Amino acid sequence: MSFRKKLMENNRRWAKEMKDEDPEFFTRLAKGQKPEILWIGCSDARVSAPDFVGLQPGELFVHRNIANVVYHTDLNCQSVLEYAVEALKVRYIVVCGHYNCGGIRHALENTEFGIIDNWLKEVKDVYQAHRDELRLIENMPARLNRLAELNVRHQALNVCRTSIVQKAWASGRELSVHAWIYDVNDGLVHDLKYSFRDPYSVEPVYRYHVTEQHDLEHTQ
Ligand SMILES: [Zn+2]
Repeated sequence: MSFRKKLMENNRRWAKEMKDEDPEFFTRLAKGQKPEILWIGCSDARVSAPDFVGLQPGELFVHRNIANVVYHTDLNCQSVLEYAVEALKVRYIVVCGHYNCGGIRHALENTEFGIIDNWLKEVKDVYQAHRDELRLIENMPARLNRLAELNVRHQALNVCRTSIVQKAWASGRELSVHAWIYDVNDGLVHDLKYSFRDPYSVEPVYRYHVTEQHDLEHTQ
């Protein structure tokens, strides 16, 4: 069977099953989206978020790229973030990396492949910042998985360092940013326990609405 025939048949069957289960499902979706969660994940074909967190179409606003990197100069990522926060008014942002990530592995291979080498520079920066810890992990797959975790935390902080998220916090919006990781070996998602809910989550130099002085007052 050709891939076109297979995918079309799958689609017709899926649409029928959805409608049989909930006759108003598509009527409701057609009126618009109101997701509460923005999901930033890896492009890896094994990492399809709505499937492994059990959500339906309409419940997750999604941005994916190789190694789930959040660049402030990435027009695509920043547009998704701004639209999610300002127009859709999501309440949660999840940055979810995964173990056995090819992007993370490639970042440490010292090989030249093309544009992706430049894309993964941010992951190399994360390695460089944590190289003392990472070099102590002799098992290479374990070292890469730890780098994947550190990268998720770094990218979640990058979300918090944007003017977009900080403007939402300054306006009193309830918005939290979380770092999770998905294990392709068993299908389980793990909360890395890094949750950011206010501008005090980020270092003073990255803040736009509160200064270091405010920080001192906040912690006293
Ligand atoms: Zn990946």
